[in-house]
Amino acid sequence: MSDDARPAAWIDLLPDGVVIIDALGVMIDANATVCRLLGRDRDQLVGINGFDLLHPDDVARAAHALAEEFVDTEAVLPTDVRLLAADGGWVPVEITGVAVKRAEGDVLALCVRDMRRRAKLEEQLRRERSFLQSVLSEVEVGILACDAEGRVSVYSHAVRGVLPTAGAVHLDEWLARFRFFEADGVTPLPASQAPLSRAFRGEVVRDVEFSVLGDDGELHFRRANGEPLLDGTGAKIGAVVAVHDITEQRQAERALRRQALHDPLTGLPNRTLLIHRLGDALERNQIHPAGVALFFVDLDRFKLVNDGLGHTAGDELLMAIGVRLEEAVRPGDTVARLGGDEFVVLCEPIAGPDETAAIAERLGEAVGRPVRIGDHEVRVTASIGVTVASSSDVLPEAMLRDADLAMYRAKERGRDGWELFDDRLRERVLARIATEHMLLHALDNHQLRLLFQPVIDAVTGALAGAEALVRLELVDGTLIEPVDFIGVAEESGLVTRVDQWVLAETCRQAAAWASARPDSPLVIGWNASSRTIGRGDFVALVRENLDRFGVAPTQLCLELTETTLIAATAATRHALTRLREEGLLIGLDDFGTGYSSLTNLRDFAVSFVKIDSSFTSGIPHDHESTAIARAIIDLAHALGLTVVAEGVNTEAQRVWLAQAGCDDLQGFLFSPPVSADTITAWLLRQAAPLAEAGDIA
Ligand code: C2E
Ligand code: MG
Ligand code: MG
Repeated sequence: MSDDARPAAWIDLLPDGVVIIDALGVMIDANATVCRLLGRDRDQLVGINGFDLLHPDDVARAAHALAEEFVDTEAVLPTDVRLLAADGGWVPVEITGVAVKRAEGDVLALCVRDMRRRAKLEEQLRRERSFLQSVLSEVEVGILACDAEGRVSVYSHAVRGVLPTAGAVHLDEWLARFRFFEADGVTPLPASQAPLSRAFRGEVVRDVEFSVLGDDGELHFRRANGEPLLDGTGAKIGAVVAVHDITEQRQAERALRRQALHDPLTGLPNRTLLIHRLGDALERNQIHPAGVALFFVDLDRFKLVNDGLGHTAGDELLMAIGVRLEEAVRPGDTVARLGGDEFVVLCEPIAGPDETAAIAERLGEAVGRPVRIGDHEVRVTASIGVTVASSSDVLPEAMLRDADLAMYRAKERGRDGWELFDDRLRERVLARIATEHMLLHALDNHQLRLLFQPVIDAVTGALAGAEALVRLELVDGTLIEPVDFIGVAEESGLVTRVDQWVLAETCRQAAAWASARPDSPLVIGWNASSRTIGRGDFVALVRENLDRFGVAPTQLCLELTETTLIAATAATRHALTRLREEGLLIGLDDFGTGYSSLTNLRDFAVSFVKIDSSFTSGIPHDHESTAIARAIIDLAHALGLTVVAEGVNTEAQRVWLAQAGCDDLQGFLFSPPVSADTITAWLLRQAAPLAEAGDIA
């Protein structure tokens, strides 16, 4: 094309290259921009075929595009090709063209755009993207982002498994593949409420917990944080969420919770869960009174199974009983194990007393049926305490305590049965609580008193000793007898404090009287309960008091009951034997009322027995009483023991006992329990004869 035929010179000023080619591809013209791009003069370009400059791989594509454009003058097909520059390098360009109809033959005006910058940018982008992906593939957290159109575009390794092709899926489509639930794992969560959806809608999502059902059929727990992505101008360009897998954490928590609320052996609810459910039941009962009943089931003589067949067998029995109890009640009822051989059954609703009784019977039967354990057939029974929610404001703990007390009553009544907690039982309990308070107050305010009942030599009638007997003195001077508080003291454990005080006081008195009659010191008896004797420090306590008051062991005489002695552990018996060897006297109180055999007298280092007043009272007319008294005296003497008779009320009893050979006598005939001062006065009168004894009372 001659210069004057060329379009205006402004064509050279265009930022893009322009080339005119004919139908064969021969270049007719080229502007200055193309010449710069390819490093060639216009003369070097004009007249050569454009196809000669094309990269061999691009020829076919370019030919196809150009052919189209010749046919369809409207078509503007951008085609990426590479052109050969003067330096031998390939320059990436984008070519668009338009056909120009001319009389001398159609030509194509091609716009040649330099793509070197864009190619560079694209390369950079590609690199950044792969860098990001490799970073994301390393993190444990699932990271998920979508672009402004909602196409899921970036994801970390942690979510790759569920997301096949980045950029190919719209987030709605992707989310629709899953079933989401809330953090409880139960309440369905619509996909539109999934964190990525919310973030995409513009919400900032913080620590949202949810769960998703996996292909494995298991729930997977997740915690997500997310937010919309905005560009510098605040326009939305997408959204991102970070998802933590908290499945293990949740599972551990669940296991812990289960452990905290269930008995590990039987898997039944434990005390905590029972109290919780009972609380709920009582609350419901307050709104719609329907009846709530609690059954405290304690196995009778479970210890025998444990000791006889071993703990594994015991465990098996407990598990079997747990299952039986569950089978005996309705599915909604609770069977809990409090520990040991104690189960509690909570039933709700309860129609009335008949239903309560029927359930109690059923539970008893369920326990009572034989259980096969290994080669053994084991049969245990249960003592069941029953309580029914009476007032609307009863507390779970109080109800459990009532059922427990009723269970004890069932045990007292001979086991294998059930007992309903009623007002009488309640009164007894309240009285016991009042007594405990009184006793505690007395201990703290030094209101214990010690009386002494003289013990008389049956032959000489002289004062041989005295038994220390405790009293509790009220503020108004009333003396409370041990029968009214020792039982409660034993149950509550306060008896040890009582016994400690009595021991110290006894030692103090024994020391005082020893100095008043040094030649034949009085032997002072004192009583201690099995709870005190069973303590590991009992012997040390006795020694400590003897030392502290300077009392010889031979001056003290410990009165034990037969049951105390039988229940004593080997260690306690051993300790008592040591004390006995040191000279301390030990005697069996209330002899004849317990189950002790002759062996007990021989095996335990006992130095005397005390005939119980129930036999003394039958003397001399009741044949049985006299026969037993005589047998005890003969037996004791045969074993080298001294015999004391207590509860001597009449002269006839005294005479009979003295003749039968009883060594010492104690009873109202001589004196009731009196103050220490009275004993001192008696002592000072020196071995007062029997005739005068009545005066001192
Ligand atoms: P025990 O050791 O068998 O004491 C004898 C009880 O018989 C005393 O009752 C005494 O007052 C009573 N007694 C004495 N002579 C007669 C009589 O001629 N006829 C009748 N019917 N009773 C008579 P007490 O003092 O009420 O003590 C009752 C029980 O309380 C004692 O029985 C003893 O087991 C216990 N006890 C007393 N003091 C203590 C103590 O300091 N610690 C402990 N653990 N128990 C104590
Ligand atoms: Mg006694
Ligand atoms: Mg007695």
